[in-house]
Amino acid sequence: MSGYALRCRVCEEVAPPEPVDACRRCDGPTDVAYDWERVRRTVSRETVAAGPRSVWRYAPLLPGAARLDVGAGWTPLVRAGRLSSLLGVELFLKLEGANPTLSFKDRLATIAAQVALDHGVTTLCCSSTGNLGDAVAAAAAAAGLEAIVLAPAGESAIGSTAAAAGARVFAVRGTYDDCRRLQGALRELFPWGFVDGNLHPYAAEGAKTISFELVEQLDWRQPDAIVCPAASGTLLAKLAQGLAELETAGLSAGPLPRLFGAQPAGASPIASAYADDRNISRIRPATHVHSLAIGDPAYGELAIGAVRSTGGRFVTVDEDEISRFTDLLAESTGVFADCAGGVALGALVDAVASGAIEHGERVVLVVTGAGIKPHGHDRPVAVEEIDPHVDELLARLGVS
Ligand SMILES: [Zn+2]
Repeated sequence: MSGYALRCRVCEEVAPPEPVDACRRCDGPTDVAYDWERVRRTVSRETVAAGPRSVWRYAPLLPGAARLDVGAGWTPLVRAGRLSSLLGVELFLKLEGANPTLSFKDRLATIAAQVALDHGVTTLCCSSTGNLGDAVAAAAAAAGLEAIVLAPAGESAIGSTAAAAGARVFAVRGTYDDCRRLQGALRELFPWGFVDGNLHPYAAEGAKTISFELVEQLDWRQPDAIVCPAASGTLLAKLAQGLAELETAGLSAGPLPRLFGAQPAGASPIASAYADDRNISRIRPATHVHSLAIGDPAYGELAIGAVRSTGGRFVTVDEDEISRFTDLLAESTGVFADCAGGVALGALVDAVASGAIEHGERVVLVVTGAGIKPHGHDRPVAVEEIDPHVDELLARLGVS
């Protein structure tokens, strides 16, 4: 049998690891749960070092049969010498733009596609502001699965990668939340794998591999702080989980790094709730950082918990300062990130200025995606623009 199950985050009911939307007992969200005795017997620094240079390097700490490899994971961790000197810290960049579709979402899509294969699911579907759609399309292509992507028209960076990989891309004249609503209707009708639905507990596990890798790349020493941007909050929550799991697995020890989350002012439901010490309320995003334009962050409370429990903080970065930080990153390191990288650097600069990160501390900045997406296509991208109406989407899909 597999070494993992699904466990409800609310009532702790344990269930077999199948694609399900929620806990069957209380409808709560579920997480993958591992047999830690088995993990500790199987995993050591030596077995990890002998593993593949992909997310499956950490296969015993992941769901899925660990066969599908699109090249996701094991991205470079580089020392940013000049920017370190400028900021007075020892800064490393985790270059997630080195993943096959140029963002960390390839890690999530790989796990989702593998679990889909494991369960005989033949179609992957997701809502996306850009990066997840590209990643899901690519993983589906490699796995021989169909892919359907819903993206807000005009507000997303979705495009040639997803379409070239054979996905059916619907540009919805509406918001990301409209895409999610349409997806909910599809869920009722089709036995598909929804990367941000019934496959999400598995897919989200992919994000924690960033933690595993960066600690291994620092010779198994935890950094003092990690800074990353936040959209749904999944990345922060899973970074924290991954750091704790390294300790549980016996792979690293020592105090956990402080986690710093960053959101743009125009899409800051998590950062605002953190600042005001209240519950998260849904907002309508108004940001030019498409990859962070999420108004209803599913892992927001967990992300706040990750930041608070480690002694970090959440930072909001002004919209008109973001491109300055994206440029500063490029000018001082040579790394051209997407604007989410500028948001993260803005938070790091703020943390250094306020003393929350101290002189000489060892810091990892997670650069979640690359600044350039390829347009090397010699024909128009096959994106179908639709209104945010279920009937229109179903007609396009041939269902009446
Ligand atoms: Zn439950």
